[in-house]
Amino acid sequence: MSNRNERRPDELSLDMKARILQIKWLDGHISQYDFDFLRRKCPCAECRPWIHGNGPEGVTPESVLAATGDIAGPQKVQFTGSYAITIEFADGHGAGIYTWPYLREICPCGRHGQAEKPA
Ligand SMILES: [Zn+2]
Ligand SMILES: [Zn+2]
Repeated sequence: MSNRNERRPDELSLDMKARILQIKWLDGHISQYDFDFLRRKCPCAECRPWIHGNGPEGVTPESVLAATGDIAGPQKVQFTGSYAITIEFADGHGAGIYTWPYLREICPCGRHGQAEKPA
């Protein structure tokens, strides 16, 4: 761990009832992700083809936009090393590796999305 760490989670918690994944970051920012939102933002090659060099930039497949993000239980959210989490959704999808920078980038709070993403 030699790089700057403020964009790493301090605490990660799941509210299964509200269907919210909450991350408290080391810089104090709190992000709350609705499970459906997370499913639709899955970063795998199937759901975000352009990240992997396929398809038009930013075009999420219809099937992904319509997906629901049910998660059977907290054990379906797993750490991948120290840099990411993976989530096994109830629809059988679990290919996405949600890295800390990616989670921070998609934070739905609306306070920094525009600054970090070109229009
Ligand atoms: Zn995916
Ligand atoms: Zn935020």
